[in-house]
Amino acid sequence: MKEPGSVTSLDLIRKIYPGANPAEQSVNLLYDIIRQKLDFRPEQILHADSICCDEVNTIQYPAAASKMIGSFKMGGLSGYPFAGLAAMNTAAQHIPEQGAMLISYGPHIGVSHKGIPGELRRTGQSCDSICCGAVISSLQKLKEKLAIPDIHSEDDYQINRVQQILLKSESRLVAAAHPVVEATEVMYEAIDEKIQNLISKSELAVRHVFIAGMILINGDFDQGAYYQYRRLEHFDTVNNTKTSWLKEFNSKAEQNI
Ligand SMILES: [Zn+2]
Repeated sequence: MKEPGSVTSLDLIRKIYPGANPAEQSVNLLYDIIRQKLDFRPEQILHADSICCDEVNTIQYPAAASKMIGSFKMGGLSGYPFAGLAAMNTAAQHIPEQGAMLISYGPHIGVSHKGIPGELRRTGQSCDSICCGAVISSLQKLKEKLAIPDIHSEDDYQINRVQQILLKSESRLVAAAHPVVEATEVMYEAIDEKIQNLISKSELAVRHVFIAGMILINGDFDQGAYYQYRRLEHFDTVNNTKTSWLKEFNSKAEQNI
């Protein structure tokens, strides 16, 4: 029980991301909605995700998500879906019969015990470090006016792509009050756009697809992760309709806190 006047990790995170909820609770609430509306159990759902390959996301992966089949990994640095259309089509072929698919995605950002965006305390370390390193190092390059060539190096293809995405929003980032938070927004928009584009081109061959776009927030090593959903949709591929469940999710989440 929270003591009166005490500040929890969630309070600090909600100063930056007002709609954030613990990741475990977010996944369980999503299951509740899916079960109520369509009667799917988690083990009938193939989960494909596109999140950053940073080990903190593996360590803080919500246990509830492991009830689904997966996850099929589509993401690389910063959560951008580098594995592309082939990954989405392949994941769709692995959906159990009479099953469904969840596609969750988004950039991540650390928020330390001091409430500082872009930082966290990692397991076994005595100082805070940057998170997401790909986004913050790319932002630093922009600030220092270092050249960002439009190359496709085999050695560093992914970070170059992240740099290119941020470079397109250079003026927005330079003017931002909180450049790391703003850069995370820019990445969310780029990832969301690419995921929608991949879904429109893909051969999902399943009726029910759940689409969950989020900012993934990493607390310190002893805190776990939090999700702020930005898009929560049911895509009925037979009727070609998309229905937002975000309002319903948020009102359920508020009742649970
Ligand atoms: Zn990262």
